[in-house]
Amino acid sequence: MIINNFICEILVKLLIKSGATILNGSNVVATGSKVADNIFGANTDTAAQLAADVTRESKGTNYPELTQLMTANIGSAIDFISDFADLHYQKAQTQTPEHSIARQVELPSASSYEFIEKVSQAFTAKGGEIRLGARVEKIKRDEQGTIIGLIAETKTATLDINCRSIVLVTGGHGANAKMRGSESEGIDYYDPMTSTGDAYSFTEELNLSTHDLGWYKIYPHGVEVEPGIAKLTTYASKKATDLGGIYVNVEGKRIINELDVYTTFRDVILQQTGKVAYLVMDKRTWQEFYALLVQHNFSEVEVAAFFEEPAKRPVFAKGSLKEVAAIAGINDKQLAQTIKDYQGYAQSGSY
Ligand SMILES: Cc1cc2nc3c(=O)[nH]c(=O)nc-3n(C[C@H](O)[C@H](O)[C@H](O)COP(=O)(O)OP(=O)(O)OC[C@H]3O[C@@H](n4cnc5c(N)ncnc54)[C@H](O)[C@@H]3O)c2cc1C
Repeated sequence: MIINNFICEILVKLLIKSGATILNGSNVVATGSKVADNIFGANTDTAAQLAADVTRESKGTNYPELTQLMTANIGSAIDFISDFADLHYQKAQTQTPEHSIARQVELPSASSYEFIEKVSQAFTAKGGEIRLGARVEKIKRDEQGTIIGLIAETKTATLDINCRSIVLVTGGHGANAKMRGSESEGIDYYDPMTSTGDAYSFTEELNLSTHDLGWYKIYPHGVEVEPGIAKLTTYASKKATDLGGIYVNVEGKRIINELDVYTTFRDVILQQTGKVAYLVMDKRTWQEFYALLVQHNFSEVEVAAFFEEPAKRPVFAKGSLKEVAAIAGINDKQLAQTIKDYQGYAQSGSY
């Protein structure tokens, strides 16, 4: 099949619209947007303050020109997409501590499923076409090297599309084990399987510069749902610690001030035995934690199975302190002492 492509077209290799985007909770910063003005009122947030927060949280490893590109444009991007797809962002339930000011917004459903649905409807209403299950295999060039189209494969046909320009947005590359660096060793992967870094192979001949491809995004909050594969529990975990849940290691010791920022938390967990931390919470906290798990990517059946199979990961356990310590393999005497100390801090009001 040959298609002459003069209108806008999106090809997506899975039978769902989007990869990582559909998995996220829609929580984004809205600095410099009209959307933020309406939500946060006379807020003093600026692009420079956002850039300073990014720099601090990345421990100065960010590239200032890329940070600047993001901070200077995020506001207009949020306003554009809100108008384009009739999105109604609101103040995000979770405002995380690495932001020095409230600036995080999310969609009413707290899910990017809503984002993808509304943006694709708006796109098709403007004449765009979305082809699900079409995997781009090759970018076509003429003898001078000018792009003239692409070849994509579907289950039933080869698509030969002629076009003058292509926007490559194939997502990340973490699902491509060959492209991973040593930093990823022993760390679970939480992105979708569509992140195979195809854009890098399509542009190989262009000799573009890349940097830090071996870096691996490491989140502190999540559980291993299959060997080497994790699901994030970011919102649920933050809620649990806001309500008094604490993080301990297998030795039963509390490992961090739970109000601390992600990077500190991540670095502390990486130093623990087995690079694992356990979140200990009471029943009231569990109920709120569970509600957020089910809202963000977990099913009730899946969570029930975690409890039923204590020998497997992830370890989910309920009961007395002694019982949960035994199931998780945590030192129970030290855990009891840690909780006692923590209750003491709660009573005295000091850490
Ligand atoms: C669980 C999770 C939670 C997150 N939470 C947040 C959050 O709260 N806030 C935030 O800002 N960010 C969050 N992120 C990160 C954010 O979702 C990603 O950075 C962003 O969605 C990446 O968008 P993208 O368009 O680059 O890639 P993707 O959304 O992955 O899109 C790439 C698309 O390209 C397609 N594709 C790839 N190769 C081909 C090919 N050869 N042919 C055709 N199609 C192809 C894929 O199928 C996919 O549809 C989260 C990510 C995950 C996984």
